[in-house]
Amino acid sequence: MTEPKLPAYEDVVAAAGRLAGHAHRTPVLTSRTADEQLGAHLYFKAENFQRTGAFKFRGGFNALAKLDADQRKAGVVAFSSGNHAQAIALSARLLGIPATIVMPLDAPAAKVAATRGYGATVVTYDRYTEDREQIGRELAARHGLTLIPPYDHADVIAGQGTAAKELFEEVGELDYLFVPLGGGGLLSGTALATRALSPKTRLYGVEPMAGNDGQQSFRSGAIVHIDTPKTIADGAQTQHLGNLTFPILRRDVDDILTVTDAQLVDEMRFFASRMKMIVEPTGCLGLAAARALGEQLRGKKVGIIISGGNVDLPRFAELAG
Ligand SMILES: *Cc1c(COP(=O)(O)O)cnc(C)c1O
Repeated sequence: MTEPKLPAYEDVVAAAGRLAGHAHRTPVLTSRTADEQLGAHLYFKAENFQRTGAFKFRGGFNALAKLDADQRKAGVVAFSSGNHAQAIALSARLLGIPATIVMPLDAPAAKVAATRGYGATVVTYDRYTEDREQIGRELAARHGLTLIPPYDHADVIAGQGTAAKELFEEVGELDYLFVPLGGGGLLSGTALATRALSPKTRLYGVEPMAGNDGQQSFRSGAIVHIDTPKTIADGAQTQHLGNLTFPILRRDVDDILTVTDAQLVDEMRFFASRMKMIVEPTGCLGLAAARALGEQLRGKKVGIIISGGNVDLPRFAELAG
């Protein structure tokens, strides 16, 4: 079997060039309260303020911008629990490409509405009984569409890495960096940027405890598959890492940590009450893990990627209220 060709930091740099003028250069925020509570210097890369409300616009746009004229004409298909869907839908509209999105029946209403609002065709499925990857592949084969997977794709990974590239360019090297982990697109892209720009950083991926397949995989050395985990972190309900993301994580990440849903709720409240912003549960993974490390971070320079802010308001009120 031939090894898959892994993306490298130069691909992240090329992605940053394609994204210039299309993606937001999101702010890096600080909070005295957070610094005091953790005894560290925290830098939050606020991808909740990215276009479509999550970092996924970076990878989606980069992947679509690389398609040739025939592929653009035929269109693209994506399967996603939400944020990748919006990313592909908006990127496709900006680039004039028709898009079909396969979404779970129980995806947050705001995400489904936003995806339709960007002009994409939405096809729904039951996430507990049907296989979205199979549905996506069938649609691709039947209509000649290009399938853009949410994380296991070199151009998606390279695009996601541009957030960390911006973070290091803005604040310099970091002692620690905490990154939400689902299928590993964000974490592997971040790893490429980290090893190039801040090689000594201790880089941690953070998963919901109920879905710790990434931690099991990272520590055992083989990709572990699990059933769809029940967690409020809907952006990290993936069942397994990818064939591209896994080897990058194994090579470049220091460890994978887990946090509970209750910890995520605490951080949603923190972000809302102290930093005046809405962060979706999955976007809280990094801060929750950093806070749990306690003394270890004292006096250190710590990066936190806030991966997204898309959560229905009634849901937000129910969880954080
Ligand atoms: C998709 C997503 C993640 C996980 O990203 P992966 O690339 O699948 O690891 C984390 N947070 C949010 C908000 C997401 O949308």
